[in-house]
Amino acid sequence: MKKVLTMWSDDHVNEEETRILRQPCADLPIPLDGEARKSVKTLVDAFLERNDASGLAAPQIGICKKIIIFRNRGFTRDGASDGTWTKKDVEVLINPRLTQQRGNQVILSEGCLSCPDIKVDIARYPEIKIRGFDMHGQKVSKRYVDFIARIVQHEMDHLEGKMIVDYDEGAIFVPKKKRGFFENLFQNKSA
Ligand SMILES: [Zn+2]
Repeated sequence: MKKVLTMWSDDHVNEEETRILRQPCADLPIPLDGEARKSVKTLVDAFLERNDASGLAAPQIGICKKIIIFRNRGFTRDGASDGTWTKKDVEVLINPRLTQQRGNQVILSEGCLSCPDIKVDIARYPEIKIRGFDMHGQKVSKRYVDFIARIVQHEMDHLEGKMIVDYDEGAIFVPKKKRGFFENLFQNKSA
């Protein structure tokens, strides 16, 4: 399985991986050139071989380009599986740009493959509109609601180098046996 970069593993901080995850990503050229198509394919392959993620952003596999992939159906409102998802229900967005946010923000606990072992309460909009390009480089304009809107916002954060630990308004949940390590890491936050 393709390695996903993480900010820490077990009880040490991964400085080099964090540096990469923290970099704002560059746009892909449109129309897509050969290298851009290769980057898209690498991300698609990396996502499809896993079943532990609802989305993945290119920087998480070390590609600092604006590409995200996510499951686009099969969730209930609070993110549980509704059993209707198949491997085909994935969507790629290239150079996504948020054009509208609507509704009252909803708080839910989120995890991230790049922040193993923790969950963070994050308030996000339940409805968003995005402009960008699909995996073939065709212009798209999309609307997402509820949990899928949340996934898209989470993955788009990665493209700016923003991680779930940056949302310090919400509680951070850490496993008891690792409390010491995370207390150190998030000195000013509740652990
Ligand atoms: Zn993530």
